[in-house]
Amino acid sequence: MGNKIQFNNQPQNLAELNDALTGAALDKSLGLYQCQNCFVHYHAESHQALQASNNGQCVACESSTIEPDH
Ligand SMILES: [Zn+2]
Repeated sequence: MGNKIQFNNQPQNLAELNDALTGAALDKSLGLYQCQNCFVHYHAESHQALQASNNGQCVACESSTIEPDH
């Protein structure tokens, strides 16, 4: 048995990502949205806040193409 540590290029873990509006760690159970331009994530609640107070625009890139993330 080898004892080498393997480093894999793993996809980004959701737990390492944060809501771009609130900075909260992403929780998929809250519903996630993603900016289709710069790919930051938002919780559904933050997405609603953007719709209400930021003209529906991404806080990072000002794109308005923010869609549900599956
Ligand atoms: Zn964006």
